[in-house]
Amino acid sequence: MAAAAAARIVEVRETTRVERIGAHSHIRGLGLNDSLEARHVSQGMVGQLAARRAAGIVLQMIKDGRIAGRAVLLAGQPGTGKTAIATALAAALGQDTPFTSMAGSEIYSLEMSKTEAITQAIRKSIGVRIKEESEIIEGEVVEVQIEKPASGVGTKVGKLILKTTDMETVYDLGGKMIDSILKEKVQSGDVITIDKATGKITRLGRSFARARDYDATGQQTRFVQCPEGELQKRKEVVHTVTLHEIDVINSRTHGFLALFSAYLISFLGDTGEIKPEVREQINGKVAEWREEGKAEIIPGVLFIDEVHMLDIECFSFLNRALENEMSPIVIMATNRGVTKIRGTNYKSPHGIPLDLLDRTIIVPTQPYDEKELREILSIRCEEEDCQMSDNALTVLTRICKETSLRYGMQLIMTSSLISRKRKALEVDVEDIKRAYQLFFDEGRSVQFLREYQQEFMF
Ligand code: ATP
Repeated sequence: MAAAAAARIVEVRETTRVERIGAHSHIRGLGLNDSLEARHVSQGMVGQLAARRAAGIVLQMIKDGRIAGRAVLLAGQPGTGKTAIATALAAALGQDTPFTSMAGSEIYSLEMSKTEAITQAIRKSIGVRIKEESEIIEGEVVEVQIEKPASGVGTKVGKLILKTTDMETVYDLGGKMIDSILKEKVQSGDVITIDKATGKITRLGRSFARARDYDATGQQTRFVQCPEGELQKRKEVVHTVTLHEIDVINSRTHGFLALFSAYLISFLGDTGEIKPEVREQINGKVAEWREEGKAEIIPGVLFIDEVHMLDIECFSFLNRALENEMSPIVIMATNRGVTKIRGTNYKSPHGIPLDLLDRTIIVPTQPYDEKELREILSIRCEEEDCQMSDNALTVLTRICKETSLRYGMQLIMTSSLISRKRKALEVDVEDIKRAYQLFFDEGRSVQFLREYQQEFMF
């Protein structure tokens, strides 16, 4: 019985781990040294030294704010690490710099126009660091009422009556404030502070006035003088939000919101189209804040994979957007050489119009040699908790060379499951062979369908 329970726990743990592993989850940075030279294997990145070094220089330019209005194009064959390098760049930039990633084909949706999709992606890639004053209110709790929803599910609601020097104020409680109250175990007679911007409640201790009732409970506590005189303090708080988040908040509320608390932003979901008037108003407001020294713009990165999927209208729109003072750094990736610009009959390098290419720095990526492929596969084995014998890794590397790196990576998990079925401790050549027979790569799959079609054609 105990063994069965233990086995179940292991299974659950492993499912979470599988979900957490993304195609690029092994990448933690560009793996450069202090003079921006790429180390051969570092931070999950292998080889591709020149492109990584170039990305390091781009990173430096972004940090120095010297690359606005420009674009970078990562150009190379499929599976040469273009997305990996963009992901590494995002990791190196850190959390405060917005990074948006999209595939060129994503802009074709029924929900919004192409230009709206690009505008939203651009505004998601521009950060606004807002400094604002937040009010901190201090007072004694008269009463807290928290109601659970009748059905037992859904959000809790509540009220808090707070006494400051000479008046009592009733606050309607939302989710975050309720969480804060429950965490701090706030009850009548406590002296608390409320941060109006974040909704955070801090319990300072018990009020002197109620000290005696509290003593009876025998609990240790701190007695705090009930506040008198100046009750509302001000403190400076800094939030970093994206222009898109400001757009969304303001298209959902009436009037203009001055506060962009983490609390409000946590409610944001997807949105439809945003009215141009809302954006104009926000641009004006942000410009005003910048002048007053209340806000700072942080240009982030917009990564567009498969950029050849954009059409001429999108390219023109993007080109114009880059001229705007508030524009992110656009990093594009393509595996196409000279090809037609979508929506026209003209051919152009990488399917990108010449006027946009003109302001683009091109970073090429090269195919990997066997040693590098082996190294990447071995990092992935570790990432996926897969023990693999040396011979199996050699066979898998050969398969990658002949098919693709991505296909080879898929075989890691599949062959690992096969090896576990036969209760082996590590993946061996036979497991790789079995996985190779069961799951086709693109080339064999096309070949198979071609032969199949011929059988039925007369
Ligand atoms: P495509 O043109 O098909 O979009 P790509 O050039 O963007 O391909 P990636 O998706 O970056 O290729 O690479 C395929 C897989 O190999 C990914 O899982 C990626 O993380 C990994 N990879 C590629 N290059 C490297 C590298 N130099 N170091 C570590 N991992 C890499």
